[in-house]
Amino acid sequence: MLGMMIAGETFASSRSVVEKPIVVILMGPPGAGKGTHAKPLGEQLGIPHISTGDLFRENIQNQTSLGQTAKSYINAGRLVPDAVVLDMLFARIDQPDCNQGYILDGFPRTVAQAEALDPRLKNSRVIAVNLNVPDPLLVERITGRLACKECGKLYHKKYSAPASQGQCDLCQGTLFQRDDDKEEILKKRLEVYRAQTEPLIEYYGKKDVLREINAADSPDSVFHLVLDQIAEPVARG
Ligand SMILES: [Zn+2]
Repeated sequence: MLGMMIAGETFASSRSVVEKPIVVILMGPPGAGKGTHAKPLGEQLGIPHISTGDLFRENIQNQTSLGQTAKSYINAGRLVPDAVVLDMLFARIDQPDCNQGYILDGFPRTVAQAEALDPRLKNSRVIAVNLNVPDPLLVERITGRLACKECGKLYHKKYSAPASQGQCDLCQGTLFQRDDDKEEILKKRLEVYRAQTEPLIEYYGKKDVLREINAADSPDSVFHLVLDQIAEPVARG
């Protein structure tokens, strides 16, 4: 597979110049599958995936000063300021496991964040992958989600229904719909996405690093579409 070849010795040794680190920016509205694809994509390419949600959790758990600052905003129900998010992100991508590149999931969210990130991407091969899913399918994917009250396992009414209705297969806990997944709130999230994040599509389009992916199909076929987009320019050398 091409994805394997990127990290593989055979391919690397056939090139005369040292390969630039690859930075994959995963974009798409809620329900497009960013979270589903980030981890397996990282495993396939041999680079870590970084989500802002994980960054918050790690920093809060390790009680870093950035984590404590973030926590004070989250507890007050306010957005964590860009400067705090960027400091967390930059500390993370300075780790040695990011030397060959990394995958960003959920960042940047705004053009301002993208501009702040740019100087850090100068010596990397950047690919911004936009996962396109029609709105009705996003609504179906998200409003059908159910979560277990006890263990947090996720189900979907249509795509991964529990064996017995309303009950977790693993722990028999009660299943419920999270507030974020209710149609009213989802519509607001989509509006915010359109207003804040869609300008990023234009931003990365102008830089000629944007790859549009039809992400309406099964996760498996979408995964291979994404991988092809990332692998192609490398294969051409
Ligand atoms: Zn459960």
